[in-house]
Amino acid sequence: MRKPFVAGNWKMNMDGESSIALVKGIAAELDGDIRERVDVAVCPPFVYLAEVVSAARSTGIAVGAQDLYFEKNGAFTGEISTAMLKDVGCNYVLCGHSERRHVIGETDELINKKVTAAISGGLLPILCVGELLEQRDAGKTEEVVEKQIRAGLAGLNEARAMAVTIAYEPVWAIGTGRNATPQQAQEVHAMIRGLLAEMYGQKLAEQTRIQYGGSAKPDNAGELLRQPDIDGLLVGGASLKADSFAAIFRSV
Ligand code: PEP
Repeated sequence: MRKPFVAGNWKMNMDGESSIALVKGIAAELDGDIRERVDVAVCPPFVYLAEVVSAARSTGIAVGAQDLYFEKNGAFTGEISTAMLKDVGCNYVLCGHSERRHVIGETDELINKKVTAAISGGLLPILCVGELLEQRDAGKTEEVVEKQIRAGLAGLNEARAMAVTIAYEPVWAIGTGRNATPQQAQEVHAMIRGLLAEMYGQKLAEQTRIQYGGSAKPDNAGELLRQPDIDGLLVGGASLKADSFAAIFRSV
């Protein structure tokens, strides 16, 4: 049985004060038995990680980073290593978010190095994959997603791949207000689970959590989460307010 996992990606938003207020607001909503029913994480910008970790202590909220660099240390100006993220108390890290792929220009090879470094350093990567609108329109969704997953997990054995959460985020649905229908998302999630079974066997495929991301909101979260292969949500815009984020994770 996979425990639902809802994560908020704050992207390049918030400041120190509003970050703390948001974590406190989320914590107030993560009460009672909801904590047993869903894993909740937030991914603030690097500079607020330490204070968010501190505000999230004992609340049940896990903290993730939005990115990392794969090298251990050295002359990599502006970059942040796995050890640094562990040092400030992160548990998770997003790898290959669509904005890093399509705005910053990250390749599958670089993303694979990041996923590998995260696992080696004891972080839990959330590997984000998803097709562009023109790729969906050309009937290439499965091909694109399969390539991203095979490349993202390249070189990982089953034990290491167990640490990975996959987030299926169709690029055309991110920040656009246009979510994939639950059926469209389920179709790709089932394909991803089948691919994981082919790559690593049934056990890993059944244990791996696959989140959907792309304009998830309180009013569509329940229906998305009811799909058999959707195990959680990666939420952007709607994770910036405690009430909308809570309404989403409460809908599990
Ligand atoms: C995201 O940033 O991963 C995301 C899904 O954003 P939004 O929910 O705003 O579409």
